[in-house]
Order: sequence, then structure tokens, then C-alpha cells
Amino acid sequence: MTDTTPEPAVAFPSGPVVRLRPEIVALPAYKQGRPAAADAFKLSSNENPFDPLPSVVEAVADAVDFNRYPDATALDLRERLAAKHGVGVGAVHVGAGSVALLAQFVLATSAPGTEVVYSWRSFEAYPGLVTVAGATSVQVPNRADHGHDLPAMAAAVGDSTSLVIVCSPNNPTGTIVTENEFHAFMAAIPCEVLVVLDEAYAEFVGDVVGADGSPAVHGIPVLDRYPNLVVLRTFSKAYGLAGLRVGYAIGPVEVLEAARSTAIPLSVTGSAAAAALASLHVEDELLDRVRVIAARRDALYSALGEQGWAVPRPHGNFLWLPTAEQTSQAAEQLAAAGLVTRPFHPEGIRVSIGEPESVERLLEITGKIMESLPTGHPARRVA
Ligand SMILES: *Cc1c(COP(=O)(O)O)cnc(C)c1O
Repeated sequence: MTDTTPEPAVAFPSGPVVRLRPEIVALPAYKQGRPAAADAFKLSSNENPFDPLPSVVEAVADAVDFNRYPDATALDLRERLAAKHGVGVGAVHVGAGSVALLAQFVLATSAPGTEVVYSWRSFEAYPGLVTVAGATSVQVPNRADHGHDLPAMAAAVGDSTSLVIVCSPNNPTGTIVTENEFHAFMAAIPCEVLVVLDEAYAEFVGDVVGADGSPAVHGIPVLDRYPNLVVLRTFSKAYGLAGLRVGYAIGPVEVLEAARSTAIPLSVTGSAAAAALASLHVEDELLDRVRVIAARRDALYSALGEQGWAVPRPHGNFLWLPTAEQTSQAAEQLAAAGLVTRPFHPEGIRVSIGEPESVERLLEITGKIMESLPTGHPARRVA
């Protein structure tokens, strides 16, 4: 509370509190990446460090008819996305961020008595969305190399499974699912179970080949093979529109319609739709920026390897330090140096790829952390 906040004029009566769903009360509140102090770098939310492009700012400034409700179907944006991806406009659904879309797919498929299968550790939003729907999470541990264990995920699918979420690149470990792994996985999933492929970081994936010799999966080109697949994309990361909230899903029309029925109408504002549309007009320039971030990531990854770190190869705009029991302590060391990161004690620390000036400072501290890790620590590269 700042000293300008007045004392509240109304005091709420104390007394018996209303009945609330106990599983909701028990949910941890969403924890936002800590705001960074003036001289600190915020590397905790996988945001894009580039300022918005002038033409995008202008498009938002021009979208001034906000005395009116927005177009509920965001048709202009959907038409543009449909053309870009070579699908019909009915196969594109937009939402106020892809997390909002994910919530819709959870609600459209999952209810009390059903199970949602996903890898763990993965995106921290997944458990809460499942709980809100009243369904049960089935978390399948990642492999030792921090990637999804897709055979184990497929084995976890049973009669009660209502949804499977695959995240590639995986937040927070940065690993990808390969094409071969994905096709083998889809072949093992009953076609009445929806699979959502969360591709929030797809644009950051380079021409990589996985350990099995197969490239990273891209969901949109394989949609025609699977009637039970939906792909989620977002403007928040590669396109730098995190603060405006817009993402999209591509998939079978009937599945998207069911999701839409669960949505709060008119959530995508005219400003957000205008910014997304303007971003698609200058996509080449935005994707150049993505390449700059990916190159910065790859350089950081090499430098960490030279310091002795065993870090999974990163494919998003972030990387994963598997600091295990040393996680909280290492995150404090980083914070003391003005590097705000996202620790998940006792597993590891997710560090977003930020401003170029953050890199040197980061490597200075990771070098110190590495020196302090005990021998045999999982974050130490075996020589
Ligand atoms: C950031 C992120 C999203 C997208 O978030 P929105 O801002 O809601 O579009 C979705 N999935 C994962 C795994 C993410 O990291």
C-alpha cells in the first residue's frame, strides 16, 4: 500500500463466509513474474524484449471506436490467419490469449470424473485450468532429458481421459517434440480424445533435428491427418503483444465451435485484433527479431555449456537451469544481481532471453552458481 491510498470507507462485516468450492480455495493464486527494479532485467515471463513496432502502435491508436463492442468473431483477423495457414476461416478461433483458448478446450472436453493428461513439469497454467473445470490432472513426469515422455503419456490415457495437452517447445524446459515422436503418439491416442498441441513458442524453433533424427513437429501442417488435434498459437511471445491478449486455435470446426460455446463473448478487444492484424502485415520484420532472440539464446546456451552446465537445448525464448535443490538459492543470487527469473523449487529456473545487456550479467552469475554446485549435481555436465 502506498501512503496515498486512503483508508477504506467501508468495512466488510466479519462473520460466516459463503460456500466456495474447496478445490478452488486451495488453488494457488496466479503468481506473476516479479516486476523488475529500474536497473534490473525482467527475465521471468518469457516476454519479447523489443519495443512494439511503430505501425502496430499506430494501428492500436487508430482503433478508437471503443464505445462499441468489438466484432465478436474477429472476422478480419481470422480471415488473415486462415489465408496465412491455408485453412478455412471456420478452422480458426481467436481468444484473449492462448491461455483463454486453452481454458475453453478444457471446459469443452472435461468435467468432474474426467482426466486431463499432460507432462510435468510443463506450463504452470495447466493444473489450475483443469481444477477449475472440476476435472482431474494426470501429470506424467518428463524424461531425464527434460522432454515429454510421450509413450508414458499415451499409456496414461484411459477411458476417463477427456483431453491431452502437449507443449512444444515445452515451457519451462524448452524441449521439443519431434515429428516421429508426435506421429507415434497420435497413433496411440483414441481418436475420440482431443489432443491440444500448445505451440506458444513455435516461431522460435529453428531447423533442428531431435535425437531420433526427426525434425521438430509443427502442428498446423499435420492437422489434416488427425480429426482430434487442435493447435494453439499466440501473439504474446514472438509477436510481442503479451499485454494486449490475443491468441488463436486452428483445428476441426466442430471442436472450435464447442470451445467457443464455453467462451466469455467479446473478450478479444478491437485494439488487440487491430494489433494482431497489423503485426501480420509486418510479419517479416517481427520474425527477424525472433531470429535475433533465437541467436542470442543459442549463444547463451553454448556459453553455459562452456561453464559446465548441463542445460537442455532450448527451443523457445527462454532456457532452463536444472538447479534442483539449489533452485531458490540460485534464483536469489540472480535476483541480487538484478536478474528476475522464474524459479520452480526444487526443479530448476526458467530464464527468459531478454535484452542483450542482460546476457553478460547472466553469465557472470551462472558462472558463480556453477562453481558453488556440489559435484555430481544434475546441472553439472559430465565431462
Ligand atoms: C505464454 C504461453 C502461452 C500463451 O499465453 P497467452 O499470453 O495467453 O497467449 C500459452 N502456452 C504456453 C506454454 C505459454 O508459455
